Amino acid sequence: MGNLWISNLGELASPLGSGPLGGRRQGEVSRRHGVEVLCRDGRIEAIGSPPEVAAAAAHVGDIERLDAGGGTLVPGFVDPHTHLPWAGDRSAEFAQRLAGRSYLEIAAAGGGILSTVAATRDASESEIRANVTRRLDRMLEWGTTTCEAKSGYGLELEAELKQLRALAAAAADHPVDVVATLLAAHETPAEHRADPERYLDLVCSEIVPAAAAEGLARYCDVFCERGVFSAAQSRRVLEAGLEHGLRPRLHADEFADSHGAELAADLGALTADHLMAVSDRGIEALAASTTIAGLLPGTSFFLKTRLYAPARRLIDAGIPVTLATDCNPGSSHTESLPMIFWLAVLELDMTVEETLTAITLNAACSLELGDEVGTIEAGKQADFVLLEGASLDNLAYHFGVHPITVVVKRGTVAYRKAEAER
Ligand SMILES: [Zn+2]
Repeated sequence: MGNLWISNLGELASPLGSGPLGGRRQGEVSRRHGVEVLCRDGRIEAIGSPPEVAAAAAHVGDIERLDAGGGTLVPGFVDPHTHLPWAGDRSAEFAQRLAGRSYLEIAAAGGGILSTVAATRDASESEIRANVTRRLDRMLEWGTTTCEAKSGYGLELEAELKQLRALAAAAADHPVDVVATLLAAHETPAEHRADPERYLDLVCSEIVPAAAAEGLARYCDVFCERGVFSAAQSRRVLEAGLEHGLRPRLHADEFADSHGAELAADLGALTADHLMAVSDRGIEALAASTTIAGLLPGTSFFLKTRLYAPARRLIDAGIPVTLATDCNPGSSHTESLPMIFWLAVLELDMTVEETLTAITLNAACSLELGDEVGTIEAGKQADFVLLEGASLDNLAYHFGVHPITVVVKRGTVAYRKAEAER
């Protein structure tokens, strides 16, 4: 139905507008009190005082009522960087890592990303689809209403397409909207280790055209990193994507300055993600471009490097910043944007308002969805998260707990916490 009337709000907190907010503006969040929200046919119809909204509601047919119980309403969260369609389980490897074995030792013994590649190649499309659905369910429960998701564990034509088809099938009957990215250049597969250029030939001449022709991806991504793909190799892949209508977004400067930020800026990429090792020149290049900086602090936390991206310098340079889970089996195994919220506030020194903008409006803009989602304003899609507590500040203050009572997608309640859990 999509007609919904939300009343009894403690606070309504949202960035405003349809474009990315950088610099000081990233922290300019509207925080309103004493307002109600009316949704019609899945879109926001009116926001105002109770009499104003009652007057608007008189023109709408059947309306579902939602008593917010004094909670805080924010835009549905947008997770702009995930790797959802994978198979296999790396929990044993994680236990080894906790016991002190290095990532390189584990990879040399057949673990690491290539173990996920082997499991994903072996899995059926329906098995991967079920995995994606389970992960989307958990994302929704933690407030995500739109996300991006990448391939990148197939590393051969059919297996990459299988991942993307499984993703599309799972997304087709799930409330969370999913935007797909082809990440065939995530790593060089074992069979091409002797000649990585040969694998990039396949990516550019076969995998990119096939994924584009089947309409399976909107974007093309590459892992631009020392020891993976150089800036020159990354450029080749991203230009092949552009030729087939796939705009670039990339993994840049995660462990070493690989000139990924400069490449992203030069190509007009939507985002440059990670940036823990970004150089001053990389920051300057981003500041002079339209590219958004995507921060993934879950990896620094989960890999125990404790090296976080320079969020304050990026924001102070005027660059719009997003935050994402990077949900993947190796370096950030979480579907929870609230977890990333806590890391941003406590480890990246971002304010509560800057962090909210990062996981709503700025994230939506990085997926070219800023006109549709990411803020609570009349005309936009009615995607909301109802948080416990009468203020947005409570989300940062009460960490580690599940903070959400209701998630609304297109004006319909898509998740509601059971009474027993409240
Ligand atoms: Zn990633």
